[in-house]
Amino acid sequence: MTSVVLESVRKSFGSLEVMKGVDLTVEPGEFCVFVGPSGCGKSTLLRIISGLETTTSGQVFIDGKDVTDAEPSERGIAMVFQSYALYPHLTVAENIGFGLSLARRPKAEIAEKVKQTADILQLSHLLDRKPKALSGGQRQRVAIGRAIIRNPKVFLFDEPLSNLDASLRSQMRIELTELHAKLGATMIYVTHDQVEAMTMADKIVVLNGGQIEQVGTPMALYNNPASPFVAGFIGSPK
Ligand code: ADP
Ligand code: MG
Repeated sequence: MTSVVLESVRKSFGSLEVMKGVDLTVEPGEFCVFVGPSGCGKSTLLRIISGLETTTSGQVFIDGKDVTDAEPSERGIAMVFQSYALYPHLTVAENIGFGLSLARRPKAEIAEKVKQTADILQLSHLLDRKPKALSGGQRQRVAIGRAIIRNPKVFLFDEPLSNLDASLRSQMRIELTELHAKLGATMIYVTHDQVEAMTMADKIVVLNGGQIEQVGTPMALYNNPASPFVAGFIGSPK
């Protein structure tokens, strides 16, 4: 299991400073949730961790190793987005195995790993279907399958459930929590949904304007919010 550490991370886009010095430790195996209002820098921080975005200053460590200048492919990270762009002309099995096909892994190995991944996500009966014949929740599970099959050390999720309707969202919350328990992997999960944060997180990181307002367990934040902003966001009565 793998830790993720950020040290004094700053990021500017031109004259706009969107990350104003972020220090954070995500423990190995933790389910860490980033919350905060739209535009506070949640996605930027995930992109910095994954290497899709550079830092202006500061460092990123994965498993104790400085990866600040490492390519995304060297970081052992998989990212799942809100808009799960599946390949419409490929089957579920081909979508899940796509990354391994690109890497030219042997067909038998790909088939075996696709089978294992589909079992974990309860997609085994859907392997021959095309994405258009799936429900929204099933499509999102295929997108998660594409991440799992690469056996990443860290999973990053950027609002993966925000396109789903309310009942499906609550079902997927449970499934993702079970998936985390099953895989034991370090997961960082971005949402602006308080219920997701409170029910899924080992640790919540409240972001506001490119800075961390507070870090703690859901109960600690609920019982002892550090500011009216945190209280308002977490929904505690202070
Ligand atoms: P969140 O995910 O919390 O909604 P983002 O990380 O997407 O917030 O954005 C944080 C801020 O950075 C916003 O003001 C956004 O407009 C700005 N931003 C993000 N990406 C870029 C970019 N590539 N160029 C310029 N500004 C950006
Ligand atoms: Mg975002």
